[in-house]
Amino acid sequence: MIFSNSLHQTGGLRAARFLFKLAIMTGVTAAWAQAEQPEASSGFLMRPALSSSKFMAVTANAHASDAAAEILQLGGNAVDAAIAAQWVLNLVEPQSSGIGGGGFLLHWDAIRREVSAWDGRETAPRNATADFARRADGSLAGFYEVVATGKSVGVPGLVAMLESVHRRHGKLRWERLTRPAIRLAENGFSLSPRLHRLLSEDRWLRQNVAAYALYYQTNGEPRPVGDTLRNPEFAASLRAVAVVGAEALRTGDLATRIVAAVGQRGGQLSAADLRDYQPKQRKAVCGPYRRWRVCGMPPPSSGGVGVLQLLGLMEHTGLPSRDPATADAAHLFAEAGRLTYADRARYLADPDFVFVPQGALLDAKYLGQRARAIDPRRSMGVAQPGDLPARHTQADDNAPELPATTHISIVDWDGNAVAFTSSIESAFGSRIQVGGFLLNNQLTDFSFVAERDGKPVANRLEPGKRPLSSMSPTLVFDGDGRLYAVLGSPGGSRIINYVARTLVALLDGGYEPAKAVAQLHVGNRNGVTEIERGSAADALALELERRGHAVKRDDMTSGLHLVLRVGDRWLGAVDPRREGSARGE
Ligand code: GLU
Repeated sequence: MIFSNSLHQTGGLRAARFLFKLAIMTGVTAAWAQAEQPEASSGFLMRPALSSSKFMAVTANAHASDAAAEILQLGGNAVDAAIAAQWVLNLVEPQSSGIGGGGFLLHWDAIRREVSAWDGRETAPRNATADFARRADGSLAGFYEVVATGKSVGVPGLVAMLESVHRRHGKLRWERLTRPAIRLAENGFSLSPRLHRLLSEDRWLRQNVAAYALYYQTNGEPRPVGDTLRNPEFAASLRAVAVVGAEALRTGDLATRIVAAVGQRGGQLSAADLRDYQPKQRKAVCGPYRRWRVCGMPPPSSGGVGVLQLLGLMEHTGLPSRDPATADAAHLFAEAGRLTYADRARYLADPDFVFVPQGALLDAKYLGQRARAIDPRRSMGVAQPGDLPARHTQADDNAPELPATTHISIVDWDGNAVAFTSSIESAFGSRIQVGGFLLNNQLTDFSFVAERDGKPVANRLEPGKRPLSSMSPTLVFDGDGRLYAVLGSPGGSRIINYVARTLVALLDGGYEPAKAVAQLHVGNRNGVTEIERGSAADALALELERRGHAVKRDDMTSGLHLVLRVGDRWLGAVDPRREGSARGE
């Protein structure tokens, strides 16, 4: 029997009753009932962690988790399940990820005891230029002036990357993995409240004729919540992917249409760019945190290095690990965040184009020396980057990275695992729809300025280069080398803070998984200290202000999806801020 913790209702009380019954039915501890519930953004709804002994799949949508469970029950493994879930997410959560975008995947091979890291990040077209964000008169364009145009579209990498991972680690036939999404695209699915809200708030998507026809009514309102949405064009695209794999986006009809659509919107993407895209297998970045080993994605994501730096800095202060909800712990976390994000802006970029001093950034002596800047009583204010070798003197990155994206965490029957974060960058990407899916705006993750005071920015756009990401798919191992946690989140450059703080809650605070992903967000990206809106924020804000922090309250819509080992069981927890769901058996 498959257990699930998804939620199709939105009414708080009905949902709470439903959850209570569900918790009893499935025998899980009703962690949500005791957990502190910050009054965060609307739609915040705690769900119990789901417990199971055989497999666990946690994704941003119940249909996607169903697809993962279907594949796992057929005998598929974590990679197969993640791929099937991804195709469904493209369909039901079109704003966040899909075959028009890219992603990063970490894989744990339980037999070989090996972590591998897969880079399906978009690349800059060969004719794109570092001044892509400048207007004709040379002035700098606003973020959205670039986003909803062809100039923001990078060469999609998702299908090619998943194809490579599948060739290496997949078990079921590639074609079989497309079936749940094709079925759903043809039979239809119910339009979710979250998608409805995002459709109604978006200012650009209506301008795309195909997207308008798919998602909106003739009066310009989005189709209502619960409406049955079918996307036969996407089904046709997936059929092509099922038959020829990544070749479907490299050559042929779909590729031709992508090039034409981007060109019409002022972009530079060429047939040769699509044809030449190559996913990359990279060496995962792993390091210690207290008695754990944490593995993440190396550059061109700043995720792995960022999470490890932040945790390492905290550890090197020598201060005791404690409940992250305390003001002392939040202060320490925010200060470590300042130092981490200062280095990120200066040194991190695509390592195939820029020398990234990755080893030096994670060196224990360096972290120890940097951690000395942290005063437990007083904020340091804006942190300077560390003094490290760079091939040229570099200036800081200023890419804004607005949050969309999705994260999948899966552990299969054999204990193999996938942590997979996938994105088309901002919600609905470039708002250019082809073949029933949206193209990314990932090029806006490059710095909008290529140099400052004559010094080049590491993350400037160069042809063929991959923009710096913050995506942080993460695997944690215990002292005996056993897989302990699988997690990740969307959230733009806040992802590093979301993931690191969830780890602090789990590893230092001993939080249960549902409470860890629901805790009040706090973090600093080397500016103001950001605190998630909610009643618990008031007291904490005051305490942090007393220590010299400038505090900003904000909605912080993470989408943390976590699988955690407890004894010989897996607990799956979903972020209460989105529509995620867990499936286990
Ligand atoms: N484009 C961002 C990145 O690659 C992700 C955006 C998001 O998380 O919403 O890091």
